[in-house]
Amino acid sequence: MITVKDLNDIRGKNVYVRVDFNVPQKNGVIRDTNRIVAALPTIRELVKKGGRLILMSHLGKIKWKEPDPEKIEAMKKANDMAPVAKALQEPLPEAKVHFCPVTRGEALKEAVSSLKDGEVLLVQNTRYEKGEEKNDPALSAEWAALADCYVMDAFGSAHRAHASTVGVPSILKEQGKPVALGYLMIKEVEHLGKCVEPTAEDRPYVAVLGGFKVSDKIKVIDSLLRKCDKILIGGAMAYTFKKALGEEVGCSPVEDDQLDYARRCYEEANGRLLLPVDSIITDKFEDDGSGRTILTKEGGIPEGFEGVDIGPKTAELYKSELMKARLVFWNGPMGVFEQKDFQAGTIAICEAVRALKGKAFTVCGGGDSASAAKEFGYKDDFSHVSTGGGASLEMIEKDGHLPGVDVLR
Ligand code: AMP
Repeated sequence: MITVKDLNDIRGKNVYVRVDFNVPQKNGVIRDTNRIVAALPTIRELVKKGGRLILMSHLGKIKWKEPDPEKIEAMKKANDMAPVAKALQEPLPEAKVHFCPVTRGEALKEAVSSLKDGEVLLVQNTRYEKGEEKNDPALSAEWAALADCYVMDAFGSAHRAHASTVGVPSILKEQGKPVALGYLMIKEVEHLGKCVEPTAEDRPYVAVLGGFKVSDKIKVIDSLLRKCDKILIGGAMAYTFKKALGEEVGCSPVEDDQLDYARRCYEEANGRLLLPVDSIITDKFEDDGSGRTILTKEGGIPEGFEGVDIGPKTAELYKSELMKARLVFWNGPMGVFEQKDFQAGTIAICEAVRALKGKAFTVCGGGDSASAAKEFGYKDDFSHVSTGGGASLEMIEKDGHLPGVDVLR
């Protein structure tokens, strides 16, 4: 695979860069510019080399199944890319950033042809096109026709075979044009690659899995069982496992259709899959503080209560397992980390990672775990914090393969 470093002859050429600018925003106010900052090394390098950059990204969701055209228009308006162009200009004083408010047609072609060497054009949200998520060949061809070469730097979208992530590069590759990985992608592929293929030095390899649904993570649990020495389970998904093993779980969230899977998984793990030995439980989960009962409970959870975090004994147990590790992969919070009373379990995992600094390679697999690590001030303690939650899980599950990467091989 070639990388952005290998693209030398690009002065005056149109470089299509798929970035992940799917930033958290509301009414045009961007809450977190992390994803923009993460793409800067690639953008700066291409600007320095005199390329004419066409940046494309999706932003939020547009539900094309919605029959009411007015509602579609409202979704488009809510996910307009224009504020992102402004946010990109700030840290990029060396290049003029233009914005193209449409995704197709003459206006886009004109915007591209007016670009000067070392300038940047951010194109409107790729999801304004119905064909983007369907990898529509006509749409891919129209976008590919704008470009002389392609750089993939959107790790968070690399698990999706869409027009902008797979359609465009496959056409350009067929035409013999260069298709390359950007800096952010290089780092993600290299660091997550360790979690995909651990070496003897990476043992013990410990994975921590939490979050809400077992069904979302089934395939990754199967895959991790083949790769890891221990898997520590927390979050709401722990209660599906516990119920499957015959424990009382009160009104904790449980996926009843996953009980057989959970039982089989636990048995096959043969002691390598650890479940919480105690939980923080509450009788009023919706209530944001006042008047609820919060208890620590070992074993089963009584009727009327639900588990909302791992308990202190489990936190200690998981910490001691983590302290033996040489490689750690973490995805999914241990509890409802958005509420102060239920953060301790997730913080305990972060504390263990901090204590492992310099002793183990620690990877935070993006999504909510990355938000938690950042919010609690532990982000810099990880060897790597992935920018893609879904993509990092899929990369592990598929043994290193992602559609948006495979197409560049
Ligand atoms: P996921 O997207 O699958 O990683 O799930 C993250 C979400 O799971 C977060 O919003 C957490 O609040 C939630 N979560 C974690 N543990 C629990 C729990 N015990 N009960 C309810 N929600 C939980």
